[in-house]
Amino acid sequence: MSVNKYYIAALDNLKAKRKASLALFEAQKERVYEENPRLSEIDLEISRNGAGLALAALSGNKAKMEEIRSVADKLSAEKQEIFKKANLFEPVPECPVCKDEGKVGGKFCECVKFRARALMSEELGSEMPLKDSTFESFSLDFYSDKTENGVTPKKRMTQIFKSCVEFANDFGKEPKNLLFLGEAGLGKTHLSLAIVNEVMSKGYEAVYSPAGTLFDRIEKEHFAYSGSEDFLDTVLNCDLLVIDDLGTEFSTQFTQSTVYNIINTRILKGKSTILSTNLTIEEIKNVYNPRICSRLVGHYDVKQFAGDDIRLKKALLK
Ligand SMILES: [Zn+2]
Repeated sequence: MSVNKYYIAALDNLKAKRKASLALFEAQKERVYEENPRLSEIDLEISRNGAGLALAALSGNKAKMEEIRSVADKLSAEKQEIFKKANLFEPVPECPVCKDEGKVGGKFCECVKFRARALMSEELGSEMPLKDSTFESFSLDFYSDKTENGVTPKKRMTQIFKSCVEFANDFGKEPKNLLFLGEAGLGKTHLSLAIVNEVMSKGYEAVYSPAGTLFDRIEKEHFAYSGSEDFLDTVLNCDLLVIDDLGTEFSTQFTQSTVYNIINTRILKGKSTILSTNLTIEEIKNVYNPRICSRLVGHYDVKQFAGDDIRLKKALLK
């Protein structure tokens, strides 16, 4: 999994929270010590006891060691009792796995990944109506039973729906790329987002963006010459990338080379990508250069959506 700015922000966020709760605890503790002079006495006795224990251990006096230990237990019990009365409790880490350290065995903890995804969704949020677009809320009832070109839209869409569920279920096993073709309003965005939802809930980093927004951001970042290309880095390295409405971006030499860079780099890295477009295969050939087309042909599973505008049908039913 790639390290991107969302992970770093999530980690910083976690550390800052942990630091704040520890600072609060220390301040409360100080107050409790002021109000209970007995606590400082106990601490002094505990440290004296420790020295005594070391001596007893050196001389091999087991009975003495036992005695000192039992005194120590009583002292710490007394201390805990005072803390309890004062309502002072050590802050419990929010994450039991990493104890709010953010990493386990050098790898990001699930809690950081979760935070990172939340930050990412927040930032791309306006573009990502994730909540409403799930497999459960996808209805096949809107697709007609009338035969078109040998198959009914309902049948075709049932197959596509199944392959999308499969894509999400198998995510992480091996890289897979999908190319959704079809006119507006056939459910391409809904199914893409449903996949994103599932994949994210499995702990993967998924990024969804309409093509226009995506290329604008990459272009701005590129020509800002800031030396950092965080967004492009996320786009190239995230576990799943969904580019919606490919072909609606303003086509320039820069977007052409960026489209190729994204598609090709992700294939080489073994990262899954979903592209959706209102263009037909013929139009794709006209809009994009042959290098891009050959990548699509060789590495993408084409799903031709069918039916009439579902949005229109839904709106009419309301
Ligand atoms: Zn954690």
